[in-house]
Amino acid sequence: MKNILITGGAGFIGSHTAVELIGAGYGVIVVDNLSNADTTCLEGVEKITGQKIPFYKADCCEKEDMRKIFGENRIDGAIHFAAFKAVGESVDRPLMYYRNNLLSFITLLEVMIENGGGGVVFSSSATVYGQPDKLPATEDTPRKPATSPYGNTKQICEDILLDAVKAHPSLKGMILRYFNPIGAHPSALIGELPRGVPNNLVPFITQTAAGLREELRIFGNDYPTPDGTALRDYIDIVDLATAHVSAFERMTGHNPDGSCEVFNIGTGRPLSVMELVERFMAINRVPLKYKIAGRREGDVEAVWADTSLANRVLGWKACRSVEETLANAWAWEKKLRRLK
Ligand code: UDP
Repeated sequence: MKNILITGGAGFIGSHTAVELIGAGYGVIVVDNLSNADTTCLEGVEKITGQKIPFYKADCCEKEDMRKIFGENRIDGAIHFAAFKAVGESVDRPLMYYRNNLLSFITLLEVMIENGGGGVVFSSSATVYGQPDKLPATEDTPRKPATSPYGNTKQICEDILLDAVKAHPSLKGMILRYFNPIGAHPSALIGELPRGVPNNLVPFITQTAAGLREELRIFGNDYPTPDGTALRDYIDIVDLATAHVSAFERMTGHNPDGSCEVFNIGTGRPLSVMELVERFMAINRVPLKYKIAGRREGDVEAVWADTSLANRVLGWKACRSVEETLANAWAWEKKLRRLK
């Protein structure tokens, strides 16, 4: 059995990825400093899979802690999710973002190399494309200068991995650029757990529907899009998680030259904010109070993925409907809030 270390494995994407890896026959070890998560989702992963997950509460920036984890486990590969991710906060606290997001990744790579290398997946983001000149965005779409320290850390970490794989033959790398991950596991045992007021659209919607927020603000209806609201590519969290299984199959099997490949992970279909809101209300038969507000600073008007490379090379494809995804997101929120 191959063992994968998941950094940030107690979080939204990490916990869903743990479930899918275990389902595909991998062993999973989680390291998370719980700075933006608690153990709720880890417990959910254990319930879903029926397995005890080896968990280290540790900071990936701490080299001795990482060495201990590698010393106590046979680790064949890693997925690096552990990072701060709030765009606005990164503008206010850039040094904290650069220190945490860069140092944690560098430390992971150094300790992997000390221990014989392996495959490493870096979780990047469509944010590296900014507002593409041409849509859909392919992996060759030029990266735009980042508009926040957070976005910059994603670009720098991509470059770190590309350079590290070139220089260290024991390392294999893969960069996955996620579009907008949403939803929850169909069991409603794991899902998104934002701290405080959610920044992202779907948790804000579910919290508003659950009565925790007064109303949803739709940021901008004057974009040059069919209904005036911004277009995104919303990818189901379980679909996104399965992309990581395909990534390890490719890295441990077929990638011929060991180079660091880049893949877009999205659905390939744009959806507007307004359409998403309407579909949420329709599938869940729940009303949602919303109003149109001004544009949010830093938002791009439209971005969606060309996923043909991932479809062809990874043999991976998003298959869940947005309705299914929004029903799962609502089921998770209701379970959290003990609503009927
Ligand atoms: N959005 C919104 N109201 C909110 C949160 C988000 O209208 O309360 C919009 C946001 O302006 C963007 C889309 O929803 O057009 C997706 O935003 P999110 O923060 O989820 O992801 P992003 O695409 O910014 O990474």
